[in-house]
Amino acid sequence: MSSEPSPLRPGTLYLVATPIGNLEDITLRALRVLEECDRIAAEDTRRTGQLLKHFEIKKPQFSYFQHNEAKRSQEIVQYLQNEETIALVTDAGTPGISDPGERVVREVVQAGLRVESIPGPCALISALTTSGLPTGEIHFVGFLPNKSGQRRKRLESLRHVPGTWVFYESPYRIQKLLADVAELYPGAMVAVSRELTKKFEETIRGSAAEVVEAFEGRSAKGEFVVCVWKHT
Ligand code: SAM
Repeated sequence: MSSEPSPLRPGTLYLVATPIGNLEDITLRALRVLEECDRIAAEDTRRTGQLLKHFEIKKPQFSYFQHNEAKRSQEIVQYLQNEETIALVTDAGTPGISDPGERVVREVVQAGLRVESIPGPCALISALTTSGLPTGEIHFVGFLPNKSGQRRKRLESLRHVPGTWVFYESPYRIQKLLADVAELYPGAMVAVSRELTKKFEETIRGSAAEVVEAFEGRSAKGEFVVCVWKHT
């Protein structure tokens, strides 16, 4: 273990994880990288602006999101070739996990440049580790398609995938996802994590049918991660 803060390395892209709800969850290293980098590439510059303001950090930002990834990835490569240091952040959590990041990392690596992770919050890891389900082998699915036929098909395609499956889900479709899981995999154990790290954090655990029942008649507000373990 090293506690010596090392200076940022020129020509490096830093993937900086940010809080998923609780501002106390930012790491000392994340704050230092945001303070010391040359520029910040942010999924939403207004949202990141609020985070920077809270921590009294002033830094030039530019946007990097799904619809400008191609152009911005090239620009980031150029900044790095000019020996700059760039921090990439998303609205919450770890860049590249159901969030922008994958493309720029690929292009930076292909250009022979350096990428470093500044680890921190990730809803996938928090939900999995508190689920009570097996953590030795996992399959991260992220968001299922919006259309119900495609969602079901994707769920069915997991039948022979071993380990605990992890889904991200919106409040609009959580009940539908749980109902589909209960129908397709009646013997599965399920853990639904809601509002992780926030005031109303809770995890609902049980068989698929029990979890469906727990959600009946209540409003499904907030952000959700669903972990499913189908006995083999
Ligand atoms: N990159 C993020 C990460 O590292 O977890 C995920 C971003 S993705 C666009 C947002 C989804 O992550 C939400 O719809 C929800 O499924 C999950 N999520 C994010 N924060 C959460 C929280 N505090 N509690 C539960 N789920 C959360």
